[in-house]
Amino acid sequence: MKKNIAIIGTGYVGLVTGTCLAELGNKVVCVDINKNRIENLKKGFVPFYEPDLKDLIKKNIKSKRLFFETNLALTIPQSEIIFITVGTPSLENGAANLSYIEKAAEDVGKNLKKYAVVVVKSTVPPKTCQKIKGIIKKYSHKPFDLVSNPEFLREGSAVLDFMKPDRIIIGAESKKAEKIMKELYSALKSPLVYTNFESSEMIKYASNAFLATKISFINEIANVCEIVGADVEEIAKGMGLDPRIGSQFLKAGLGYGGSCFPKDVRALHQSAGTNGYSFCLLKSVIEVNNNQRKLVIEKMEKMLGGLKDKIIAVWGLAFKANTDDIRESASVEIIELLLGMGAKVKAYDPIANKNAKKTLSEKIIFCDNSYKAIAGSDVLLIATDWDEFKKADFLKVKKLLKHPNIIDGKNIYNPAKMKKMGFNYISIGR
Ligand code: NAD
Repeated sequence: MKKNIAIIGTGYVGLVTGTCLAELGNKVVCVDINKNRIENLKKGFVPFYEPDLKDLIKKNIKSKRLFFETNLALTIPQSEIIFITVGTPSLENGAANLSYIEKAAEDVGKNLKKYAVVVVKSTVPPKTCQKIKGIIKKYSHKPFDLVSNPEFLREGSAVLDFMKPDRIIIGAESKKAEKIMKELYSALKSPLVYTNFESSEMIKYASNAFLATKISFINEIANVCEIVGADVEEIAKGMGLDPRIGSQFLKAGLGYGGSCFPKDVRALHQSAGTNGYSFCLLKSVIEVNNNQRKLVIEKMEKMLGGLKDKIIAVWGLAFKANTDDIRESASVEIIELLLGMGAKVKAYDPIANKNAKKTLSEKIIFCDNSYKAIAGSDVLLIATDWDEFKKADFLKVKKLLKHPNIIDGKNIYNPAKMKKMGFNYISIGR
């Protein structure tokens, strides 16, 4: 049976969740406090780059299943299921900032007029759902059930990930809420895992922390490979064929970034600490990740004999390919470090230039194509593995660079081939 659904927060998770649930036939109203964003969405303008999303939004607006609204008071009373998908960014000390979700819970409580299932989709530390339940109860006398339903979509393939999830986690306290969630997701044909709030919250953090650990692990292996003369790509291949290990997330590079891994690892580390447990492993995962940014700068410094006044071309600003998200992007963090050392930076990203300009404008030169960035530069740093960079015209690259120096932070090129072409080429762990 199709449901009336409210989505609070139209970021990557909220907008994808709302649009996909509308596509499944539900009537969905997406609410945000950002008026400008809502006005644009009503016209079909998507605030960020995500493959397939724009067309799906337009289609569902047209079929009158997807609506956008700033006023919760108009939306909550009619909703049977209310998703909270607001941000949970890091506080200064690494803990998750719960102020947005607490405010959203207060707003839900104040506007609840009949029974509804309130679903926490934002990533939150264990015990948060209990707290959210308490906040809603404080402002409402209407019956409701709270559900923890963390999201695992990845930016760049978010629509596909939502429609074909590996698993759906349902942390609930009532059979009624479990049944409603099961019905809602029945079209997705994915395994459902029923558990309590705390385990559901922990599944999300443990998953992200484990993936981040894999990345930091392979980066440390890469660093040892450079000393002993081994090749990290071959190590990853050899390791990955063991099904107990798996081949994914064994890509050495500049360290993980984005809007989730860094903040979620910090938040789990912090949450464990607050609950009296010192999570030593995660402390190292974070340290290794920070160090990975610095190591590439050391390599560059050595290659160029210092960085002051050197011109660095950077290809890629997004935290990974197929997104325009630059939150905690390795590229942006490395650029800040380079600038601090007196280097000059010319950068290009196929779609993230606009977002990067918000933090880096005035500080670096933004180029509207990859070759403009390398013209006259002392070195090219590959910082995001966009397909476009994999297909570069190397003769052109060599001609345009002041010196044929390439530091490949994503291991996208073949070292032997690059050497043969006359490049002074350095990558990670090879
Ligand atoms: P985001 O920052 O892109 O979007 C959050 C949105 O919520 C913003 O548009 C903001 O204006 C809105 N908002 C804040 N307070 C509000 C309120 N009281 N009422 C209405 N709207 C409000 O965030 P995101 O990247 O979509 O992440 C949301 C949550 O999902 C986070 O907890 C994140 O960790 C988690 N998550 C994110 C991803 C991802 O890839 N981005 C994947 C899985 C889980």
